[in-house]
Amino acid sequence: MTMPRLEIRLDLIAHNARVLVDRLAARGIVVCGVTKATGGSSEVAAAMLAAGVASIGESRLENVEALRRQDVTAEVMLVRSPAPSQVARAVRQVDLSLNSEMAVIDALSLEAFRQGRRHGVVLMVELGDLREGLMPDDVARAAERVLTLPGVKLRGLGTNLACQSGVVPDAANMQELTNLVITVEERLGVALDIVSGGNSANLGWALDERNDLGRINHLRLGEAILLGVDPLDRSPIHGLRTDAFALVGEVIESKRKPAVAWGTLGQTAFGPPSIGGTSGAPAMMNRVIIALGRQDIEPAGLVPPVGVTVLGASSDHLVLDSGPELLPVGAEIGFGVHYAALLRASTSPSVESTYRWSEGSDGARAGAVNGGTI
Ligand SMILES: *Cc1c(COP(=O)(O)O)cnc(C)c1O
Repeated sequence: MTMPRLEIRLDLIAHNARVLVDRLAARGIVVCGVTKATGGSSEVAAAMLAAGVASIGESRLENVEALRRQDVTAEVMLVRSPAPSQVARAVRQVDLSLNSEMAVIDALSLEAFRQGRRHGVVLMVELGDLREGLMPDDVARAAERVLTLPGVKLRGLGTNLACQSGVVPDAANMQELTNLVITVEERLGVALDIVSGGNSANLGWALDERNDLGRINHLRLGEAILLGVDPLDRSPIHGLRTDAFALVGEVIESKRKPAVAWGTLGQTAFGPPSIGGTSGAPAMMNRVIIALGRQDIEPAGLVPPVGVTVLGASSDHLVLDSGPELLPVGAEIGFGVHYAALLRASTSPSVESTYRWSEGSDGARAGAVNGGTI
């Protein structure tokens, strides 16, 4: 088997997607399954679609192009505004996009008209997280202008929270989105098809039956489907699997060495050194190097096996304290991944993704369905 590799359990991704699609359907919400943390994996997209997501969300056109080459014909939403230089590709590849700049929408309309297509526009509203979106007061005017453009169709409104500033989706900001939808519909005499309330961080709000969901009928879900956790605190979501991904690397050095570095300390390639060894640590340690580095993973986003500690990583070396045992050179070590490590591994050309639809023989997974608070 190739190494390092990202082992992906498609059955667990499909399970998570199915559970969320069903729970949200009961609340009147459809799911767009976001594949961007897997680098636009067509296998993952197919697993999500088989589990009932209504469409696929992607942030990058090269990922969408890869999906299309693998015959993913489902509706695809670009969840980042097309760049002005990429409107022709965007119109060709995706059905609709999230938009916040009139200049981009004008260009999309012109290009779509030229291509004989109609590109869907979801206007993004800024509700406090301070990433993308029109200020609320500007939304009705933008919507009015979109309606005059021949190459685009106003599909709805959306917002995105909890990404840039960690603003939590709640009754107040979600009600503001509903109010804007009502204003636009009344003022312009249209019916908006999509009201996209946000991402995986919205699940706590959306699944809490005490909350009135207003007009919100759509969520864009990546992390919750892929990793089974609530991004707001990374707690497991009830009934979902958190072990659909395992990153496997190979031991290239394994030695007993002093626990603390010696000599005069300057900066490392990645800034100030992480001082290994705390007071009370043993003088010697079982130190293991795995052939993985920051090019492939975010060290803080790795979950090592029980008894093993991640000490740090440079570009190509991941250094572990292997606990009481020295691990043999050539051994395979499996890690769980958080979002940052998943994104990095999926986009590293050195890491190969492998796919399975069932348990198989690897023991890297805990295997349990979660308790969880949502
Ligand atoms: C990445 C992204 C999503 C999906 O976010 P998750 O936290 O992975 O569910 C949804 N919407 C937008 C605009 C995004 O950029």
